[in-house]
Amino acid sequence: AETWQDVPLAPPDSIFKLTAAYKADTYPQKVNLGVGAYRDDDSKPWVLPVIKKATKILLNDPDLDHEYLPITGLPEFTAAAAKLILGSDSPAIVESRAVSVQTISGTGANHLGALFLSKFYHWDGPKQIYLSDPTWANHHAIFKNVGIEPLTYPYYDPKTIALDFSGFVGTLESAAPRSVFLLHACAHNPTGVDPTPDQWKQIADVVIAKNHYVFFDCAYQGFASGDLNKDAWAVRYFVEKNVPLLVCQSFAKNAGLYGERVGALHVVPPTKDAADRVKSQLSVLQRSEISNPPSHGARLVALILTGSDLFEEWNRDIKTMAGRIIAMRKELYRLLTEEFHTPGTWEHIINQIGMFSYTGINPDQAKALIDKAHIYLLSSGRISMAGLNSKNVRYFAENLDKAVR
Ligand code: PLP
Repeated sequence: AETWQDVPLAPPDSIFKLTAAYKADTYPQKVNLGVGAYRDDDSKPWVLPVIKKATKILLNDPDLDHEYLPITGLPEFTAAAAKLILGSDSPAIVESRAVSVQTISGTGANHLGALFLSKFYHWDGPKQIYLSDPTWANHHAIFKNVGIEPLTYPYYDPKTIALDFSGFVGTLESAAPRSVFLLHACAHNPTGVDPTPDQWKQIADVVIAKNHYVFFDCAYQGFASGDLNKDAWAVRYFVEKNVPLLVCQSFAKNAGLYGERVGALHVVPPTKDAADRVKSQLSVLQRSEISNPPSHGARLVALILTGSDLFEEWNRDIKTMAGRIIAMRKELYRLLTEEFHTPGTWEHIINQIGMFSYTGINPDQAKALIDKAHIYLLSSGRISMAGLNSKNVRYFAENLDKAVR
């Protein structure tokens, strides 16, 4: 028999499949609402002006070399990245107990965090993690890869097109003590539904009472509100309350550095001694997995985070992206409610946060949008707001209206 004959043929990734179908479509008014990347008002990828500036600075440096970075990454990058998510006055930073490792973007941070937990968390029972239902599909695969079984907690209620808060808290309460919960720090993917600050406080109370461990995934800092500090609020609140946790951080979306793979894993142990131990083991894991992380993107982000003019400019760029997305939400809402008088309630379009939105439409309606209007979206009804712009939002609203009638 041939060597690989028994390998089962895997289905293609649903999002990449959708993108391929969109690309193959020759209809001039086609719309791609599947992609998880920011697009400008002309549907084009946007290189942030601050990234262009930082790239010039970097390339003009005569001492720039291509040596290996340290195993845990570029120190200027990891230190500044920790301050960005935890806050520069964070007790974890002040007490030198934040452990930060540069990773292959957010996916790599999730993987390294998962691998670390799999090996070193004091599991009382089977290795399991609670994921929101639904969540970024890759979460399931990442934890399975390291022998952690994904369980789910209720998160999104299709009836209200909003957070199933009582279901969520109910699972936090009924789960065994010291369970591990993955929480999206802000701009939940795929629903766009986030807890309010008051709900976060209640979540923290139960997490503390049950001694749970929190695995924060933060892929969209700045994208939710346009304000980096505001979007880090939940993480900082949990650190302040001494919740045992780690944070996965990505610069793919907020710096537009998708392909450069810039990210970090931050683990926050209770003491500096524990932090040193954790760091030593993360180094061992990182060494065997990738040896050391790539330098280019981390150098760019380090320049931006440590230069006050560049940092201010980056904040403006983030506001540009978040502002355009929020404007699209408002316009879509206005078109559906005031112009087309589309049946159903649409407040969720303006209440949801970040790049993604669960429209609340069913798989048949989503399919009709693809087949009849050449508008590409996931069968769950998730759309990327970044795919909408001043030229296609009316076309989308009109066809969404038709699809739900
Ligand atoms: N986590 C969530 C929830 C995401 O939505 C994404 C990207 O879509 C990631 C992590 C990781 O992205 P990246 O590896 O590109 O940083």
